[in-house]
Amino acid sequence: MKDCLFCRIVAGSLPARIVHADDRAVAFHDIEPQAPVHLLIVPRIHLRGLNDVDEAHEGVVGHLFSVAAKVAEAVDIAKSGYRTVFNTGHDAGQTEFHLHLHLLGGRRMGWPPFPR
Ligand code: 5GP
Ligand code: ZN
Repeated sequence: MKDCLFCRIVAGSLPARIVHADDRAVAFHDIEPQAPVHLLIVPRIHLRGLNDVDEAHEGVVGHLFSVAAKVAEAVDIAKSGYRTVFNTGHDAGQTEFHLHLHLLGGRRMGWPPFPR
């Protein structure tokens, strides 16, 4: 998708601080980090978000989580802990419409994530 930021990062036509790339996924630093470690893990295929995911995508979505675990280990937050998040749609504050798994760590996270 030529108008999609994350497709452009996956294709290498938009720079990003990439920490992992393989045949199905790419992981890179978020441009506006909300924690000392804030990475985004995206599939190479364009899916607009979790609402676009069905059984055919279970492999690729599962892969995003195994990449998250591997990268968390590599950046040394596996033991201290981290949070993985998919924001879906307006109420969750989704702003980029290419599926992305946030990986946040390096500080204590609040729960629930926002005040009611
Ligand atoms: P969302 O709000 O859709 O769940 O998350 C989108 C994320 O993408 C935000 O955390 C935002 O900072 C990040 N982001 C937006 N544009 C860019 C960009 O051009 N490069 C990188 N690395 N991250 C971006
Ligand atoms: Zn895309």
